[in-house]
Parts: sequence; C-alpha cells; structure tokens
Amino acid sequence: MRERLRRFMAGRYGSDAFGHFLAWAALVLFVLGMLSRRGFYWLGLAVLAYSYYRMLSRDIARRRAENDWYWQKRNAVLRRAQQLRRRFALRRSYRYFRCPQCRQALRIPRGRGKVSIDCPKCGNHFVRKS
Ligand SMILES: [Zn+2]
Repeated sequence: MRERLRRFMAGRYGSDAFGHFLAWAALVLFVLGMLSRRGFYWLGLAVLAYSYYRMLSRDIARRRAENDWYWQKRNAVLRRAQQLRRRFALRRSYRYFRCPQCRQALRIPRGRGKVSIDCPKCGNHFVRKS
C-alpha cells in the first residue's frame, strides 16, 4: 500500500506551504458552512479539491510559481500587520499621514500644533495638525 502510494505520487507535485494554507482555508470554510449554512461548505469543498489537484499535478513549474506567488502575498500581509501593530503601539506618540501627492506614509510626533511637513520622497509641502 505504501509502495503503491509512493509510485502513484512519483513525478507529482505533492504538498507545499500554499497547499497547507489551502487545507486550513478549506477547514475554516467547512466550519463556517456548518455554523452559518451559507454555502461556505461548497466553497471549502472547491478549495480542498484545488489543493488536491495541486498535490497530484505533474506541472511542477506552474505549482512552484503559485507557491512563490503565495509567499509574496503572505509576506506582504505579514509586513502590513506588523506595520499596523507598530502604529497602534506608538499611537500616543505619533500621528501618521500620507503625502497627498505621492501617497508616501509619514510619521509626525504628536502635540506640536500645526506643522509644515516636507515629504522626504517627493519634496511636496503640506500642513497638518500634529
Ligand atoms: Zn510625497
């Protein structure tokens, strides 16, 4: 049985981080489906089917590209969460703005009244209350 499984999986992609994420996502969707009866169950089934399709796939280059895409998205989400945690921890000491011209995020110490801000990225000047 083990040998048959090994032979069946030879040349196939198998599991990766994206696959683990999909399996967890399917589980969460199943639980949501049981709690809410709103079709999450079918979505979870589709996600699970996709994760099996990837595991059994022989197109390894494409599956690797999907996994790379997943890591990029995952890291972007984690970076954003870390940034929001830091902002929340420093919320009494700093105010956060975006440059109206280039959207660069800027941090200004609180409690200094109206301040003129020079964007370090594009050189735009604007006034905000700190
Ligand atoms: Zn700017």
